[in-house]
Parts: sequence; structure tokens; C-alpha cells
Amino acid sequence: MNVIIFGPPGVGKGTQSKRLQEAYGLCHVSTGDILRREIAKKSKTGLEAEQHVTRGEMVPDELIIRLVKRRLANDVQCQRNGWLLDGFPRTARQANAMVLAGLTPHHILVLDADDATVSERVLRRARDASHSGRKVRADDNAQTVRTRLREYHSNRNAVLNEFDKCAASPDSNPRSTHLPARPRAGGCTKSRERFLSQPRFLRLSTVNGEPSVGNVTDSIRAALSQ
Ligand code: AMP
Repeated sequence: MNVIIFGPPGVGKGTQSKRLQEAYGLCHVSTGDILRREIAKKSKTGLEAEQHVTRGEMVPDELIIRLVKRRLANDVQCQRNGWLLDGFPRTARQANAMVLAGLTPHHILVLDADDATVSERVLRRARDASHSGRKVRADDNAQTVRTRLREYHSNRNAVLNEFDKCAASPDSNPRSTHLPARPRAGGCTKSRERFLSQPRFLRLSTVNGEPSVGNVTDSIRAALSQ
């Protein structure tokens, strides 16, 4: 099973991904974690990404697409067990690049929560890290969270539409649940038709990310088992 976990900063994508990794043996690919490792190593990629990440802005699409494609192509566990993408795709171009590369999700989990709730969670994460002597993320502060939320809201629908626009049923939309694997006449390019003609189907589920971690995990597992 290949899954995308999608949602605003602080909604709990990382926490839920770890739980899903344990429960389903999925290969967890967090683009934020990959970038933070590259920045810590001061690699060429890290140096290119650092300013964007520190300001809460998106790193360039080409850079992140290259990193994800390379990881999924080289990681045997991802190929064998299926992957869980956390933090990717974040733009329509990234979603489109996935489709064109034949990287097909079976399920997109959209974790939703209020801006006020997720902002407070991010600031709490920074306070908790600081109190327990752990490294505080350079982008976990009030100003950067505003930028990250702005980036999220300005791209959310475009990302979901990228997967939605080849769906068969005329009433499918980013909040609906089931995107059947048949292209809508005239709506798809050849590559997208190839994507949708694979013997799988894409489901999109929206899960409320506001309740406790355990309750959100239960809702996610219910969505995945449908
Ligand atoms: P995250 O750990 O997912 O909150 O990501 C932290 C930061 O890494 C983001 O605010 C962006 O600066 C950068 N980043 C992570 N994933 C992506 C992506 N798919 N596209 C662009 N920038 C990304």
C-alpha cells in the first residue's frame, strides 16, 4: 500500500506516520526530515534548502522532486512494503511529477485542523523541545508558522485537484472519498491515463486531526481499512 499523508504544519503528520509505519510496515519518507538531515550535514542540497526551510518557505520543486524520486527508486523497503509520503507532494507540480513518474498512491489521507490549533501545537513542540534540552526546529516559531500555513493554504486544493482531475465520476472533489480508477473522457493526458489505468484505485479520506493522537490514529486506521 502506498499512502500520502497530507495536512498543515503541526497537525500530527509525523506522529501519525510513525504509528502507521509500525502498524503496516510502510516505508516512511518525510521530506522535512530528509531536508533537516541534509542541512545538518551541510551537503550541497542542505545548503540550497536551508534558507527556505528556516523561513518556512517551500524549497524549489526540482530539488524536492529529485530527492523523493531518488529515495523511492533506491529504497528496497519502500518498493517491497509500500511507502508513506509525509510532507510530499506540497505543490501541484510535485503531485504532477509523481503522476508522471508512475508513483501511484493508493490512499491520500488529508489531516485537517484549525490554523489556531496547529499553530499552538507547533509552538508547544518548540517549548517542549527547549525545556527538555532537545534541539528546537529552526522553523518552529510564530512568524514562520504563519508563512508555512500560508504556503499550505495556497497549495492545498491544487495538490488534491492534481489527483482528482482524472477521476471518473463528475461529482468527485477533493473532499469526497472515492476516486475510481477510470479517466474522465478528455480530462487526462496520456500519462495520467496510464496512472489511472493501473489495477488499483485511489481513495481520498479527510480525517479530523484535532482529537487526541490515539483517536486520530483510530480514524486513520478505519479510513485505510475501508
Ligand atoms: P515539515 O517537516 O514537513 O514541516 O517540512 C519542513 C520544511 O521543509 C517546510 O516548511 C519546507 O520548507 C520544507 N519542505 C518539506 N517538504 C517539502 C516539499 N514537499 N516541498 C517544498 N518544501 C518542503
